Amino acid sequence: MSSSEILAELKGVRERSYGEWTSFCPLCAVRKHRLLIREDAAGQTDIHCFRGHEDWEILQAIGKTRRALWPRPPHKYHAPDQEWWDRARLFANGKRLPPMSEQ
Ligand SMILES: [Zn+2]
Repeated sequence: MSSSEILAELKGVRERSYGEWTSFCPLCAVRKHRLLIREDAAGQTDIHCFRGHEDWEILQAIGKTRRALWPRPPHKYHAPDQEWWDRARLFANGKRLPPMSEQ
């Protein structure tokens, strides 16, 4: 499954950079962009709520399971890096995109 199927169920989706979006968290009761969604080159999607909701809770709220995060075969799901949401993303052009907390 690709992130587009997850994004289709979320509200307030904004593209932030290539393969990265923000949206409202379906469990946070406010309309603020507190959810970060990132898809890697293998098609694995990672989701982070800046108020602490777990990815499985968020997926459950939109009628999906963690399987929705899985990459395209033959790639295997791997646990996301610790605090990946707080790391700058590096692009092919060498430009760094600062983490959300620094914007
Ligand atoms: Zn939340």
